[in-house]
Amino acid sequence: MTWKLDCGSYKVFVIEDGYYWRDPATYDERASEHDWRFHPKADDGKVRLNFGCYVITDGDRTIMIDAGIGDIDQPDMVAGLMPERFDALGIARDSVETVVYSHMHYDHIGGSRRDGKVVFPNARHVFHTKEWDHWKTVSDEFGKAAQAIMEPLFDADLVDFIDEDTEVLPGVTAVESFGHTPGHLTISVISDGTRTIIGGDVSNHPFHVEHPHWSLPVDNDHQQAGNTRDRLFERIRDTDTAFLAGHYPMPGVGKIVTDDGVRVYQPTAVPKV
Ligand SMILES: [Zn+2]
Repeated sequence: MTWKLDCGSYKVFVIEDGYYWRDPATYDERASEHDWRFHPKADDGKVRLNFGCYVITDGDRTIMIDAGIGDIDQPDMVAGLMPERFDALGIARDSVETVVYSHMHYDHIGGSRRDGKVVFPNARHVFHTKEWDHWKTVSDEFGKAAQAIMEPLFDADLVDFIDEDTEVLPGVTAVESFGHTPGHLTISVISDGTRTIIGGDVSNHPFHVEHPHWSLPVDNDHQQAGNTRDRLFERIRDTDTAFLAGHYPMPGVGKIVTDDGVRVYQPTAVPKV
């Protein structure tokens, strides 16, 4: 499915590239039923984890944030829906000028190609320098996948690196937010008095709003990841800032609010397109 937010002069579309069913016990053991209250659940107790990616457009210029996991075949997983859902928006794929990737985990870069072809062939594919410096040296599941997915982008000379906070459209800035991975980026959209943050994987679970240091197996540096999300959530707490997270239950749009003295995630209803 696809959802639409009005963010000042921009429209932001949330596209669900897919989802999978995962055992909640693989998350922090302190998480209770209450902490999983936002997630759809299957009869076998598994919870639905989504893969979200984003289109930002002013009707003239269009960029993507992350590309989804792409067309891979894994049990309990639906994946690779982004390209068709993008096409349904009536925007030409070859008009996308930039794809900014929050990080190089394969569930965010895998969708950059489909059937051996780059999905957005005219776009610059933008990453933080520290991201590739790390993943090119790592030989685990994530490192191998990143190297394989990056190769055709490098071969086609489509990759740009940034090494500081960088504006990619007027008011749209890729912001260093390290910890989940060494070069992780969040995206800030400020337009006509509205504020939106596309969080990438700065937080993979709504329980982080209350418990920023609860662990997640895929956080590269637990301490740094916890500090980064704690700072971000505190900065936007009780403001009008929309917080978007691709692994939260779709559409993964909400506010960070204080409820009974506790900082919590409050989902926002967003229309489907
Ligand atoms: Zn992810």
